[in-house]
Amino acid sequence: MQNREIVRALETIATLMEIKDESYYRVLGYTRAAESVAASGREVRDMEDVTELAHVGKTTAEVIRDLAEDRTPQVLTELSEEIPSSLVEVTRLPNVGPRTAGRLWRELDITNVEDLAGMEEGRLAALKGFGKKSEERILRAAKMYNSTERRMLLDEASALGEHLLEFVRSHPDTERAEIAGSLRRRKETVGDLDIVAASVDQKVLTDAFAEAPFVDEVVAHGPTKVSIVCGGADVDLRIVPPEAFGTLLHHFTGGQAHNIALRERAVKNGINISEYGLKRIGTDEDYQPVPTEEEFYARLDLPYIPPELREDAGEIQAAEKGALPNLVEVSDVRGDLHVHTNYSDGKGTIESMAEAAIALGYEYLIFCDHSQSLKVANGLAPDRLRKKMDAVRKADDKYDEIRLLCGSEVDILKDGALDYEDDLLAELDFVVASVHTSFGIGEEAMTGRIIRAINNPHVRTIGHPTGRILNRREPYEVDVSRLIKEAAATNTALELNSYVDRLDLAVPYVREAMNASVRITIDTDAHDETALSLMKFGISQARRAWVEKEGIINCLPLAEFEEYLRAGK
Ligand SMILES: [Zn+2]
Ligand SMILES: [Zn+2]
Repeated sequence: MQNREIVRALETIATLMEIKDESYYRVLGYTRAAESVAASGREVRDMEDVTELAHVGKTTAEVIRDLAEDRTPQVLTELSEEIPSSLVEVTRLPNVGPRTAGRLWRELDITNVEDLAGMEEGRLAALKGFGKKSEERILRAAKMYNSTERRMLLDEASALGEHLLEFVRSHPDTERAEIAGSLRRRKETVGDLDIVAASVDQKVLTDAFAEAPFVDEVVAHGPTKVSIVCGGADVDLRIVPPEAFGTLLHHFTGGQAHNIALRERAVKNGINISEYGLKRIGTDEDYQPVPTEEEFYARLDLPYIPPELREDAGEIQAAEKGALPNLVEVSDVRGDLHVHTNYSDGKGTIESMAEAAIALGYEYLIFCDHSQSLKVANGLAPDRLRKKMDAVRKADDKYDEIRLLCGSEVDILKDGALDYEDDLLAELDFVVASVHTSFGIGEEAMTGRIIRAINNPHVRTIGHPTGRILNRREPYEVDVSRLIKEAAATNTALELNSYVDRLDLAVPYVREAMNASVRITIDTDAHDETALSLMKFGISQARRAWVEKEGIINCLPLAEFEEYLRAGK
């Protein structure tokens, strides 16, 4: 098995355990292991010792080893025998989650979404802990649910896309090839992959692709197009002559709404657009091919619009006015403000993380381990935190290349108080405040809880502000617009967490934050050295939200960043 399949299996184990109502700690062991495999730069099956990965202990290591060598781990066999597999689908409903699904199964004999959708009213409301309101929400979600497939996370989709692209590009008959579709637009999750290529001999290339070693199944195979299944993903390859590459790439990059808006605008200006080229309306000339996207936009009297913006969200109007944003790039990032070490639940040491950050060319790095009440993550009691501050200061003296600072990812407790006293927070260089517990307290209480943290003078940013885990957990209920207003009023930042299954804040909120002049921090939340490279995924979402480097705290050069720290909130 490849990493992405291993991740999926570990997630399934965690979900089944939660349905079974196993202890929080056992479940966490598997979700954390899944996160580490997902963040690992190397294929697990090529690793000698998987316990090198963060959060992978002896038990999970054996399971991962089994999966990597294509054996079904015993724990999975046992869980699958006991729990109806259709319950996993129930856990994907908003407001349901695995523990609720388990109760629906045990107490009401519900085993799938259909059963739930057809359930008599009042039965669920009668259970302990549920009310009329939550029953209504859950039944509505079940009725609306159409069993959509799990979508690929950005790292899996990118790795697969790049692998296939490399194959196409390395063929001697390929002149150009690019990834298109939602992956090129860097959507947070990706359904199918699209690759477009240019070649004078289209058939040779389609044949080669259909016979490639990575193909699991050929779904369709014509002279200019091949559709295959590869590693569980649907992949389309389309090929045109080089002179028509620009329009083809543009057409299959989408998004659909952007393409439609662009087509309608072109018609007003007397031009028809198709995937083959452009044509003046009212003439009987053929569609004129266009070799590059730059030329395509130029012929429409527009500057080039970056793929991340192509959603018909104002980008065409901005392009007309010459007002497209100057989007942030990975190379604009000067530091990472939220990484963990082995003081709490990270795998790296202060030194190993510092050296990894130096290798990325960073000017500063802030260690933010967990706070005392998060015992599952080995959170730091005040005395250990003080020892760590000393250790960071010593390490900072050792490295000239980088400024090392000591912060904390402090838990926002259920009532909005922070997990350390204010005088201890004042000793820290930086404070990220995050919610890790009590997700289900309702919108009003959750919003008030986080607003209280935002108003603490030491809190610089709110970590993963909505708590969602893509494909696994809906965001908790919270009024993000109110958080944004409060952040603006207190000069507090909001985090865009780069972990591929978080990407939290989500793009529409980041854009709303920018419009309210709230700055963001783009952090990797790295728990080991390799995860520092997840920054590119956070940046890709910031680009989709029209963010320029001026909107990001950790794009400040060191001197300005230190000034920002000194100035306080
Ligand atoms: Zn966190
Ligand atoms: Zn963290």
